[in-house]
Amino acid sequence: MNDSMEARIDHLKRKRDAVILAHSYQPPEIQDMADHVGDSLELSVKASTTDASVIVFCGVSFMAETAHILSPDKTVILPEPDAGCPLADCIEVPALRTLQGMHPDSLTVLYVNSPASVKAEAYACCTSANALQVVESVPSDEVIFAPDRNLGTFISRSTKKRVHIWNGACRSHATADIGEMASRKEEWPDARLLVHPETPPEAWELADAVLGTGGMIRYVASSGSRRFLIGTEEGMVYRLKTLFPEREFMPAGLIYCENMKKISLQKVLLSLERLEPVVEMDPEVRRRAGLAVARMMETTG
Ligand code: SF4
Repeated sequence: MNDSMEARIDHLKRKRDAVILAHSYQPPEIQDMADHVGDSLELSVKASTTDASVIVFCGVSFMAETAHILSPDKTVILPEPDAGCPLADCIEVPALRTLQGMHPDSLTVLYVNSPASVKAEAYACCTSANALQVVESVPSDEVIFAPDRNLGTFISRSTKKRVHIWNGACRSHATADIGEMASRKEEWPDARLLVHPETPPEAWELADAVLGTGGMIRYVASSGSRRFLIGTEEGMVYRLKTLFPEREFMPAGLIYCENMKKISLQKVLLSLERLEPVVEMDPEVRRRAGLAVARMMETTG
């Protein structure tokens, strides 16, 4: 059944001149079928450089919005429109404006895990891969960082800038069980523990490295270790096992994002058949959000 569905997806993808992008937290069958699998930054670069007419984005809504911002002339499809992100939803324009009013000398750096309407209010966007680089690059000594408080705290420890941090969090990462992480370390004492900066600071204390998902891949590639404990969404364990079949990976605890699992092969097939649901946005919001995303892309090179 799955083979024939994959063949139908492949056929329709060619017919529609589509490219399929998938985040590393997507289910295994989606990662296996995608043209490109990566983190938010890598997929943003793919979205901005692809020649395809249609981008099918297997991820959550803010990622598909970012693809639309970067490629406004292409048709961007999110196969499951209800695949949202509670972290992105925890920030709204009026509250950010209030905070900006309290810190008039600050420029706002916004994690891409945020709605396009809020990106339009920011000076620059960032991902977990380039957050410090972007904060250092903005022309102000004070920065508002939103919406993830753990990533903001992590960055604030490495910069001399004054950072005003929004109190939001990714529920999946912020509730990581630190006791379980410690138990897994005892179980695999020779393993390297890699954790995402959206996890709480207590997890960073236990870890060998605090990295975004792209950084985890680079760490494993250059490490002499054979075993790794992975402190981020479980889809990343599948991604690493695929990339490094000769190494061993184990989740450092249960970190699961239900929104990332809402897309199925069937939904991808339907979206290619119908060419919907298409990501749409107010053109002025897209233009202003595009400035913030462009500053991130320029910083990263
Ligand atoms: Fe949002 Fe967290 Fe899910 Fe990422 S893992 S999409 S930040 S809820």
